[in-house]
Amino acid sequence: MAINIVLLGPPGAGKGTQAKRLEAAYGMVQLSTGDMLRAAVAAGTPTGLRAKAVMEAGKLVDDEILIAMISERLSQPDASRGAIFDGFPRTVPQAEALDALLAGRGMRLDHVIELKVDDAALVERISGRYSCRKCGAGYHDRFQQPARAGVCDSCGGTDFLRRADDNAETVRKRLSEYYAKTAPILPYYQARGALCGVDGMADMDRVTAALAAILGPRPAGDAR
Ligand code: AMP
Repeated sequence: MAINIVLLGPPGAGKGTQAKRLEAAYGMVQLSTGDMLRAAVAAGTPTGLRAKAVMEAGKLVDDEILIAMISERLSQPDASRGAIFDGFPRTVPQAEALDALLAGRGMRLDHVIELKVDDAALVERISGRYSCRKCGAGYHDRFQQPARAGVCDSCGGTDFLRRADDNAETVRKRLSEYYAKTAPILPYYQARGALCGVDGMADMDRVTAALAAILGPRPAGDAR
C-alpha cells in the first residue's frame, strides 16, 4: 500500500538526508523539488531558465511552475509506490494543490512531519555542506568528512560540489522565505490533525528512528 508523506522544516533541517533514508527503507520515491529545479537549471530547460536567478536569490519559484512539475512527476509509474515530498509544498496554495493532485489519483497524505530545528544551527549546517558529484552522497566540513580526505565513502568519487545557494547570505534569505511563506502551512495541516513534529537537532540516526516510529513497520510481504 502506498504511503505518502511530507517532510517540512527550514533549509538545513535534514529533509533531504532523511528522505533518502526513508526511500531506501520503505521504497517510496523521494520527490525533491529543489533537486528537480537544479536538474532543470543544469539542462537549461525553459523552467530552469526561469528558476535560476530566483533560486540564486534564495527566493521561492512560482507556485504555478512547482505545481505543474509535481503533477507531471506524480504521473510517472514509480509514484504509485507512494512519495516522500521533500521541499514541497512550500506555500499554502502548493499544499492545497497537492491535496487535489493526490485525491485525483485516489491517494492522500498519510503523514506530515515537521523537522524542528534551532535557527542558529542552520546557517552553519548549510554553509559547510557539500556532496559527491557522482553519487550525491552528502558531507559536511565539520560534521561529516569522508573517511579518506577527498574520496567519497560511497562510490570512491573524487569530485565534489557545493550548491550555489548554500552561502551564508542566501541561507538567511531562504530562512526568511521559510518563515514568511512556508511556516503558514503548519496550521493548515494541524487543523486537520495530520501534523506531527520530530526533533531535527538530534543525531541523524535518532531522527531516522523517530520517523520510522511514525511510519510504523514496513508492511509484511511488501516485495519492493
Ligand atoms: P531546496 O533544495 O529544497 O533547498 O530548494 C532550493 C531552492 O529551489 C529554493 O530555495 C527555491 O528557490 C526553489 N524551490 C524548491 N522547492 C520549491 C517549492 N516547493 N516552491 C518554490 N520554490 C522551490
